[in-house]
Parts: sequence; structure tokens; C-alpha cells
Amino acid sequence: MAILKISVFLVLTLHLCHGKPMDLPTKEYLHKYGYLESMDHTDEELDAAVKDFQYFVGMNMTGEMDAPTMEFLKRPRCGMPDYPPAAIRNRRPSGRARWDQSQITYGIVNSSTFSRQDLRTVFSNAINLWTKAVNLNVRESNGNRADISVHFNSQDGPGQTLGYAYFPTLGSIYFDRDENWSLSSQRGRINFNWVATHELGHALGLNHINDPQSIMNPYYQDVELKLSRNDQRQINELYGGRGGNVDNTNLCSDPKIDDVLYYPLTRQYFLFKGDRYWTFTGSGMRTGPFQANALFKNFPGSIDAAFSTGKFTFFLKGDSYYRYYRNGRTGAVKRPISVGIGNTIPANMDASFYHPNGTIYMFKGAEFFTITTNRAGGMRMNLRNARISQYFNGVPDNIEAATLFQRGSQAFFSKSGQFYIYDFATRSVAGAAHSITRELFNCPSR
Ligand SMILES: [Zn+2]
Repeated sequence: MAILKISVFLVLTLHLCHGKPMDLPTKEYLHKYGYLESMDHTDEELDAAVKDFQYFVGMNMTGEMDAPTMEFLKRPRCGMPDYPPAAIRNRRPSGRARWDQSQITYGIVNSSTFSRQDLRTVFSNAINLWTKAVNLNVRESNGNRADISVHFNSQDGPGQTLGYAYFPTLGSIYFDRDENWSLSSQRGRINFNWVATHELGHALGLNHINDPQSIMNPYYQDVELKLSRNDQRQINELYGGRGGNVDNTNLCSDPKIDDVLYYPLTRQYFLFKGDRYWTFTGSGMRTGPFQANALFKNFPGSIDAAFSTGKFTFFLKGDSYYRYYRNGRTGAVKRPISVGIGNTIPANMDASFYHPNGTIYMFKGAEFFTITTNRAGGMRMNLRNARISQYFNGVPDNIEAATLFQRGSQAFFSKSGQFYIYDFATRSVAGAAHSITRELFNCPSR
């Protein structure tokens, strides 16, 4: 039996190696939706792109564009990428994919098949669905002057792309006027209610979610409109619950944190402590705490350090690391740091972060280590270490947490209830140390 399995595996492997070249429209599709970073790619990158795509749509990750995978290419969907390319991500300041004011407006610029009154009804329902549990109000205002402007334009004819939208604070929404739209469930037509609710989600700052139950799933589905757990989590993390749902008691009584993670897929900062996390933006705490293992399956808890390359998220604890793929739902691969990262990297790291130039920084005691990664996210054995005081002027030794922000131009370090903002341009800490409890956690003053 074992021999049989091995020979089947060999046949499959050979078949993949000699598979027919992928056609151009398929490659363009993978490129458009963020799976293939460039049309000028290696075989490895194409293989990874197909697997990523299969993972996102819930297929077996064979790396082969088989018939069931190809079926997805014909399905009508949103025109936004599932994994926005780095160029788009970096154009927008980190952590700002939200509206900062709690009162915003939307306005109808032009209408197509529908009367303005019908559009108003659809948007009013969609707004209610997204905002009823969070601290955000959206009311109607005049067309182009509104924060979120609603347009119909010609996109690609009936089918394929149904619409697209811009993240905050651009926020405009475009629907394909050539679709066979309907305001209800009708065979052979596209239910506008679903598409409008989905695109409004983007205009409020939400990304695609690879959950078939989710309104933020990129593929059109004519289902009852309600927020899935993942939809609710994303909108909560951006705007908090009504009346504030941040419980910072635990942080205010003991401001020591395990590490801070910048998570490129949702453009958020996660602050880890024990088995829980909070989210925050540059302007302070947003939401939390949440159980970390609801997001990262089998989260190890009380981690030493965390960083994310976007494709992979790593947690370091003791002499091991836990590597999660994309959004963490498939669980972690656990390996010894000395084997998977490098035998000169010590255990019990203090903190770490990932720089978008492909370098991982790890901090321990008075030293830091840098590791260069390759494009596929794998480690390259290009390790260096130096003293923190030598490169990070003004940053103390024995830090507790570190992360990059402002598109990698600054770094955040924390230690003993204080945090420091290091500027890469001036190569020094800007200004004095800040109070974590007062300036980041918004704790009541004692
Ligand atoms: Zn979308």
C-alpha cells in the first residue's frame, strides 16, 4: 500500500513538472487579483500564485489550474484584488484604512438602472448592516462632495467584474452599469443589494475575506445579507463597538506587552499580551481584547516576538517559532529557531519586526539580528548582528516590543511602560520617551 502511494505521488509530481504552459488570460487573472506580483515571474512564483488562489477559494492546493479551479475564473466577482500588491499597500499610510471621524457621508453621483430612491433604500440597508454595532454614522449628502461617492460606469460588460471601490479616505464606489442588475433574487440576474453592501465594505476599509459566508468574499453570491463572524470582526476592529468596546483594564494595571505586530493583510497593529490581543492605529487603542487563537489557530500564548511578511506571520516563543500562512486559519508550522531561521539566532527573543525591504529584525538584550528573506518569504542565510546602541541611537537595550510604522520610515520600541519612536531618516529617536498607558492605551490617569 505504501509503495502504491509513493508511485502515485511520483506520477503526480512528474505531471506537474511537465504540465502545459498556463494561458495568458489565466495569468492576467492571477495578477489582477494580487496572487502574481508581476507578469514577469518565475515558475516557482506561478506555482505559489496558483496555490494561494486555490487556498483563498477553498480548493485543494495542487498548484495546477484544474477544471474546478478554472470554474472560479468565470464567476462574477468584485474587481478589487484579494491581496493588494505591495505597491498599493505602501501608497497608503499604515493603519489608516479607516475613517477617523465618526460621522461620514455618502452621495449618489449618477444612477443607472435604478431610481435614486431605490439606490437610497439599498444604501440605507447596507449602511445599517455594517454600522449598527459600531461607532460610525453614515448619512446621505450631495454626490461628489460626499466622503463616499457612488457611481455607475462601464467596466467590462455583463459578468466578470461587478464593481470596485476605494479604501478610506478616498472611498468612492463604482458599479458596472452593464450588468443585468436586479433589486431582488432573480435567476440569471445580479442582486444589487449584495454587491452594494460588499463595495460599501471596501469604502469603509474592509478587505476581502476568504470565507464563503462573508459579505467580503470577492465572489458574488445571492444569499441572505447578514454579517458573518469575520465581517463583524473586521468592522469592529476598524471602528470599535458603540459606546467603546476597548477593555484596557489589564493593560493599564500592567503595561508590559509581549510584542506588537503590523499585519499587512488587514493593515492593522496587533498588540499581544498573554493569549489575547488588542488592535490599535497611530492614534491609539481601537478594540480588544480578543482571544488570539480565534485569529491564529492554536496560538502559543505569551509569545516573545512577532512579525509578519504578509504571506507568513511568525511568532517566536522560547527556542521555537510558529509560522502561520496568510490569515492563520490553517494553524501553525512549529520549528526550532536554530533549524528554521539560523543556529546563531538565540532563543527567548525580546521583540521583532519585518521591514518591507525584505529584512527581519530581531532584538535581544543589547543586540539585534537581521535576516534577509527571499521573495517567496523563505529565509536566506544572510544573518548579521550588531549592538542596538550602535544603530538605533536612543533606543534602550532589553526592549519588550517593536514594530515598524509610517510605511517603514519609523520604528516603535517599548520598555518599562514607555515607548520610543525611532526615525530611520535621522537615525535617532525623535523626542522624549512617551507613556504607554497615557498615550497609547488611553488609561485613566492615576
Ligand atoms: Zn471586493
